[in-house]
Amino acid sequence: MIHHIEGGYANTYLIEGTEGLMAVDVGSNLAAEKIRDVLRKMGDTAVHKLRLITATHFHIDHVGGIERLKEFFPESEVFFFTRVKKYLTGEEKLAIPPLSRWLTGLIPVVTRIGHQYRNYRQSFASRKVGIPLPFLRSCISLGYEPRCELDESSEIPFLPGWRLIETPGHTPDSVCFYNPKEKVLLSGDTILNMEGTGELNRFCCSIHDIENSFKKISSFPVKSIYPGHGTPITGVDDPLKRVKLFK
Ligand SMILES: [Zn+2]
Repeated sequence: MIHHIEGGYANTYLIEGTEGLMAVDVGSNLAAEKIRDVLRKMGDTAVHKLRLITATHFHIDHVGGIERLKEFFPESEVFFFTRVKKYLTGEEKLAIPPLSRWLTGLIPVVTRIGHQYRNYRQSFASRKVGIPLPFLRSCISLGYEPRCELDESSEIPFLPGWRLIETPGHTPDSVCFYNPKEKVLLSGDTILNMEGTGELNRFCCSIHDIENSFKKISSFPVKSIYPGHGTPITGVDDPLKRVKLFK
């Protein structure tokens, strides 16, 4: 079961696993508050405990609300993809797509839906980390200790059946989360859906890498796509086949 939580500029998802819950892409304080409300309604049973908080990549609209969520659920743990460690230690600067792609890739996403602007403000009102602007990208200080331990070699802790898929392109640290049994894909900023049938994200650091990442995931059986921005795609046959690629 996947809960779609709106409240940040990016989509936030809450995944129900057999041993607890995982929050993905908590991009704003508002998203964190909404997760708290959803969990309160579920009641305090073991399977409805928030075990894990993670993100599909380290950009503010996907991580800006994690600190607030940790305050609500201090016993939950923040796990990131191993590569995020390079940003946190300062070994690498945050990845930013080239300026030329801001016009063709970012602006259409920001302006497509009226309420996105409010959500965008929500993201920036949250913790100032993971900001993809040249003069702010070294602005990384976290109020929690994440474990940068997730990779393709093992299942996600507490979420049996779920795995991380490395899908560089939008950024080098971009990943998807996939459940082969349920055929569900959380596509992060690799596949968005602002246009109806899903599209490969033009706002990316490497066209070559994102095209290869798409090739990789297109060999997986998928019934539902939950994108980082735009509307989830469910109830259609083979949704990956309908995703718009670059010309
Ligand atoms: Zn991003």
